[in-house]
Amino acid sequence: MTMWNEHYECMSREEMREVQSQRLIDTVDRVYHNVPFYRKKMQELGIEPGDIQSIDDIVKLPFTTKQDLRDNYPFGLFAVPKSEVVRVHASSGTTGKPTVVGYSRRDVSTFSEVVARSLYCAGASKDDTIQIAYGYGLFTGGLGLHYGAEKIGATVVPISGGNTQKQIQLLQDFDSSVLACTPSYALYLAESLEEMNIPVESLNLKVGIFGAEPWTEEMRKQIESSLKIKAVDIYGLSEIIGPGVANECHAQTGLHVWEDHFIPETINPDTLEPVADGETGELVFTTVTKEALPLLRYRTRDLTTLDHSPCECGRTAVRMQKCTGRSDDMLIIRGVNVFPSQIESVLLEIGETKPHYQLIVNKEGTLDTLEVWVEVDDQYFSDEIGKLSALTKKIKHAIESTLGVSVIIKLVEPKTIARSEGKAVRVIDNRKL
Ligand SMILES: [Zn+2]
Repeated sequence: MTMWNEHYECMSREEMREVQSQRLIDTVDRVYHNVPFYRKKMQELGIEPGDIQSIDDIVKLPFTTKQDLRDNYPFGLFAVPKSEVVRVHASSGTTGKPTVVGYSRRDVSTFSEVVARSLYCAGASKDDTIQIAYGYGLFTGGLGLHYGAEKIGATVVPISGGNTQKQIQLLQDFDSSVLACTPSYALYLAESLEEMNIPVESLNLKVGIFGAEPWTEEMRKQIESSLKIKAVDIYGLSEIIGPGVANECHAQTGLHVWEDHFIPETINPDTLEPVADGETGELVFTTVTKEALPLLRYRTRDLTTLDHSPCECGRTAVRMQKCTGRSDDMLIIRGVNVFPSQIESVLLEIGETKPHYQLIVNKEGTLDTLEVWVEVDDQYFSDEIGKLSALTKKIKHAIESTLGVSVIIKLVEPKTIARSEGKAVRVIDNRKL
């Protein structure tokens, strides 16, 4: 297995600590002198750049939240003059102003470097044709993957998101071997291929690099079997750089974090104290090479565990467990914490349902209700009514015993639930209206 940057990907822990410590010291010094927001935060905590002597001192630093980026909209947290910024991206929030991020020329090069590592990690090389079905534009997905794919010398097909007929035509005509998109869109493509009677064996697809939304192991199995590919997870967020902060290797036992650029920590989201390896916590990143928008201890809201043990691929870069939930995605139904991914796991394990589902939350009087809409094969609707109600009962029982909260199951015909060409809409919470 070739690596893009063996030096950094396979460094000993001691060497990595050295690199991280030096880069952290430089970053703290830079933000203290160039970003008034951080100078003020550090002063409030009574610390100065000199108090940061090594990576161990990272816990002394202030946290940064998405709200801080919004409060400083659009460019208030930039650490370089605007003339040094060569690109901006922005993510649309569901409410209010978008989150704006900026890149210097060196940041764009760093972005390409980490995506190049990620693509190699997924098994791609210059011999591949990479079809990029992430959106191009203000979203970091399309352009982020694009620059990294060019860097490794692959043939890039910059088709962007949507336009499913065209996606399939180019998969066929251009012999694309790698597909990059959201996992839910990959499933939609598989479904469309089936409808068009195009056997997946007639395509040249080998690997899928899927990210931008949480997905479960069961979803991976579905995608791998329906597209006959190896499906790997890519992780990233625009605040940190975009896709390529971490990526799975062929072992599929967690995502290697490119920690010489992004130092990960996991914390207890309530006490903000660090948690140990193997314990679930909120993922926090400090960027230590970014020029335009360096962030200290950025709270991602993603829940995961870290694993510093060696990986069978030979990389020493720390692994984060596949994120299956964000603390933001958590629903509280009658006082019980519910993650959409828990329901996805149950539905896919049952096998008779399709991986298309939606959760609808309502309030009846003072009581929260959770409806699970799930697609099942046409045959259930043509068969005698008994089968349908038996399946409904089975799903209801399986979900309720996992969640510990009662649910209403609604089986629907294929194609009832709207397909997304980007991130899937899994939850409709009418309580917020
Ligand atoms: Zn590995």
